[in-house]
Amino acid sequence: MNSNLEAAGSAWATWRNRFARLSRITVTPTGLMLLVVAYLLLTQNQSLARAVVGSLPKPFGWQEWRIALSALITTFNVLMLAMIALSWKPVQKPATCVLLVTAAVCSYFMDSFGTLIDKSMIMNVARTDFAEASDLMSGAFWTHVAVFGLLPAVVVWKVRLRRSGFWKEFRTRAALLMLVLTVQAAVLGLQYNELSFWGRENRSVAVLINPVSPINSAYSYLRRQYREHHAAPLLRIAGDATRAAVAGTRPLLVVMVVGETARAQNFQLDGYGRSTNPALSARRDLFNFSAVRSCGTATAESVPCMFSNLGQQRFSPRRAAEQENVLDVLHRLGVRVAWWDNDSGCQGVCSRVGSISIGEKNDPRFCTDGQCLDGALLSDLGDVTLKAEESMLLVLHMKGSHGPAYFKRYPESARRFTPDCRDENVQRCSLSEVVNAYDNSIVYTDSVLSDLIGQLDARSVSTDSVVLYVSDHGESLGEAGLYLHGIPYRLAPDQQTHVPMFLWLSAQASSRLKLDTHCLAQKTGQPTSHDAAFHTLMGLFSVRSKVYDPTLDLLSACQDAG
Ligand SMILES: [Zn+2]
Repeated sequence: MNSNLEAAGSAWATWRNRFARLSRITVTPTGLMLLVVAYLLLTQNQSLARAVVGSLPKPFGWQEWRIALSALITTFNVLMLAMIALSWKPVQKPATCVLLVTAAVCSYFMDSFGTLIDKSMIMNVARTDFAEASDLMSGAFWTHVAVFGLLPAVVVWKVRLRRSGFWKEFRTRAALLMLVLTVQAAVLGLQYNELSFWGRENRSVAVLINPVSPINSAYSYLRRQYREHHAAPLLRIAGDATRAAVAGTRPLLVVMVVGETARAQNFQLDGYGRSTNPALSARRDLFNFSAVRSCGTATAESVPCMFSNLGQQRFSPRRAAEQENVLDVLHRLGVRVAWWDNDSGCQGVCSRVGSISIGEKNDPRFCTDGQCLDGALLSDLGDVTLKAEESMLLVLHMKGSHGPAYFKRYPESARRFTPDCRDENVQRCSLSEVVNAYDNSIVYTDSVLSDLIGQLDARSVSTDSVVLYVSDHGESLGEAGLYLHGIPYRLAPDQQTHVPMFLWLSAQASSRLKLDTHCLAQKTGQPTSHDAAFHTLMGLFSVRSKVYDPTLDLLSACQDAG
């Protein structure tokens, strides 16, 4: 027994001496940063490397090597930026040690279980009790953390940092920061399109940058918790709203279709030379508005904006989230409101009225693995029945022409233009193949919308119906070297902000609203925008309120006020 203790004691002494010797090693702060970043990159980011390689087609061509190399440089730069931020004197060593241990904890779960440590995972962890969590922390876990986290942390703690004077350190750090930013700007600038195509299809890869992404997720989670606890109460709008009485007892069904990534330039209804709206163009009863501007260039802006009374000028996602929107007003006035979603969710717009995600039903006629063609949005439409005097707003949020995998947005029946790009790695397709795929997605949107109108038309014996379609934003397809969307609005090209919009009303709905259809047909070329949606919806349900602006209501000028 005694000899065992002695052996353990002497082993400890040997290790202590070895660690003590580390303090004779000196390193500059920049040297320490580079060593730690290299260590993290080489040993703690296996999942990231696997995901990047896995996302690219084999065998690797020049494009793929460029993307892989860009991912490597970007990861290096992200880690370097974190190290630079933490490099001031009292913080550098302890912060680096915390980073190393955090990275080891995360890499254990990421590499052994393929866990994505994103915001929802952090939430799961925060809500898990200790007993559940301790099950996951096996001997293998502790060994991994000791070897890959604690051991390098002890080394960092023990080595001596040779710092120069404040100004010299400051200059070195500033130069390093400039270098990192310049290299990153060059990487992004030289292959913006390849990276944005690849990035859109592989967003989750960024979540794997260890340990920066998990720490960032934890930070966002805490920030959201804080906001939720300190949020201002929801601002009520149109508290004075009332609905004007309508003669008769027929029910009213308004279907607002929020399109996705459809641009006016490729809509036949808006003058495109190709037959992308074969079904809708054949109708004589559509009011197609040909000069419509979107509120934003991304879903997260345009969708909350068009349902808000703020208008583009006063809109911000945060501001819109703090107040009610037209759905809330209509709901309060007794209108049935439903939101069926086949895209990225309602962006907070429907949070008080609820929504149905079409993907969850996974209807095999339209869906594979929860990814559905837009036809799925109509499969339950027949079940919507309204009683006398009832009225309903149904919002259908389409997947539309969401890119860059446009070919996933339409079935074979809509494959009108070929050859179409059928590769998720769009950068491998020619421009004309990409445009063909995009146009096919519009052809399919056309058939879904036409089908919707047909179904509503068929029930016009019993129900007055209206369809308002508007796309959330447009898309660049290579014009001026740009692809996709999301460019800051002031810089955005016409293709990203000029969107298709049309209105269809059953004959009875027109007379219910006392609409002069000839008058409306004259006005469809006038410039309008997403700002019209809020007021037009208010007008369609005959809502009267101080926030209702008839000049923005598409119909108001052509309605008989008496
Ligand atoms: Zn969108």
